[in-house]
Amino acid sequence: MFELFENELNNLDNILDQVKRNSLDFLENIGDKPTSIADQAIVPISLTDEGAGTLAGLDLFSRHYEKLMVASPGPRYWGFVTGGTTPAAIAGDWLTAVYDQNTQAIQGEGDVSGVIEQETIRMFCDLLGLPHDFMGGFVTGATMANFTGLAVARQWAGKQTSHDVSREGVNGNVALMAATPHSSVIKSLSMLGIGSSNLIRIDTLKDREAIDVNALEEKLKEHIERPVILNCSAGTVNTVDFDDIQAIVELKKKYNFWLHIDAAFGGFVACSPEYRYLLNGWEWADSITIDCHKWLNVPYDSAVSLVRKEHSRLQVSTFQNSNAPYLGDPSENFSYLNFLPENSRRFRALPVWLSLVAYGRTGFESIVSNSIAMARRFGECIQNRDYLELSAPIRLNVVCFRLKKSPEKTAEFLKMVNRRGKIFMTPTLLSGNVSIRAAFVNYRTVENDIDIAFREMDEVFATL
Ligand SMILES: *Cc1c(COP(=O)(O)O)cnc(C)c1O
Repeated sequence: MFELFENELNNLDNILDQVKRNSLDFLENIGDKPTSIADQAIVPISLTDEGAGTLAGLDLFSRHYEKLMVASPGPRYWGFVTGGTTPAAIAGDWLTAVYDQNTQAIQGEGDVSGVIEQETIRMFCDLLGLPHDFMGGFVTGATMANFTGLAVARQWAGKQTSHDVSREGVNGNVALMAATPHSSVIKSLSMLGIGSSNLIRIDTLKDREAIDVNALEEKLKEHIERPVILNCSAGTVNTVDFDDIQAIVELKKKYNFWLHIDAAFGGFVACSPEYRYLLNGWEWADSITIDCHKWLNVPYDSAVSLVRKEHSRLQVSTFQNSNAPYLGDPSENFSYLNFLPENSRRFRALPVWLSLVAYGRTGFESIVSNSIAMARRFGECIQNRDYLELSAPIRLNVVCFRLKKSPEKTAEFLKMVNRRGKIFMTPTLLSGNVSIRAAFVNYRTVENDIDIAFREMDEVFATL
């Protein structure tokens, strides 16, 4: 073995200890770490011939780059829909790198992490109250989960007219409908060759982001000759609005369409006795997307794609490796290799498995209810300020708001707030106007963080 690697392996204890110290420094002080970095210039480090070794490399990183790491898993990072990292999830993710399994293999041939992945999916469905009617697997994020579900939907759509899309290519016959799809659904249409401009937009209910089911029925009638894929939102990113899944499932009795539910973060309201009704009927979906790196608070990149088991043959014809012909019943001799877009994959199930075992139903119920309580509290603080107003009602864990008297200064105000590095929020457009969006997903957030945020905003507003 090359001497450098021999030294490294002999020094593993020290190396992992140093990683542990760096981890503790970040995680234990995360409340004081900046949520954004003003000076993003980085010192280039030259590639050397001889190599520095891991400890020296870690030292270089600490000195030059660590300060650029923002507190995105911290309690006041409310941009996008950013989950945190629980201790169990970090432990699982660290060990994922250590075990370095390639979760694609065919059962019984070497690596069997795929069996644990299936077991994790079973437990995950139990958390969400879903029946074991779905084949599930891990992908990098909800974007890829949407892509996966919609790819199988596309295969199904082709089959309705005896067309094998995976072999023959798209023929443009499929009609994809949605009311307020996430941008990743549009991106999936591009990647799938359906074409993003071919999306058929369904009207929303008045002042809502949820689909107007009557308008949907009209469109279904209009396109009765075509195979239809319906993309349903179970939690829109701005106002966390839910399409009426139960009413849509009723329509399935009259019309033949594929129901895909993008429940990237909204799926976790299944953990809340108070809000799980929003998902009523979702067990009848053909495919479902759920992100674990959001409300499950595991590190990036982790999401689950669920597809009904009765569509397994369609799923395999979509993702089968042509050089490894798939024989027999897809549920026997199971291999992720033929079910998902990626071939080689890391053992992404482990952080989720460990989280589910470590925190149970009560743990995740508490994360969801705490996030909703934090959004409420944030909303009350807005109502107590004469310079701010809500730009949409707070349905669950996201708050959209703006400056009251000078809404055109909202974007500038947000930039000034973010620049101070204590809180981070992102801008969004609501009916064409800029709003500030705060999304509560992180289990660490407590009321004091909301107080800090409003102290920051009050001070910035005073200087505006
Ligand atoms: C976040 C999100 C996505 C995209 O997820 P990534 O994890 O960023 O790929 C899709 N749909 C919804 C509703 C989301 O909230």
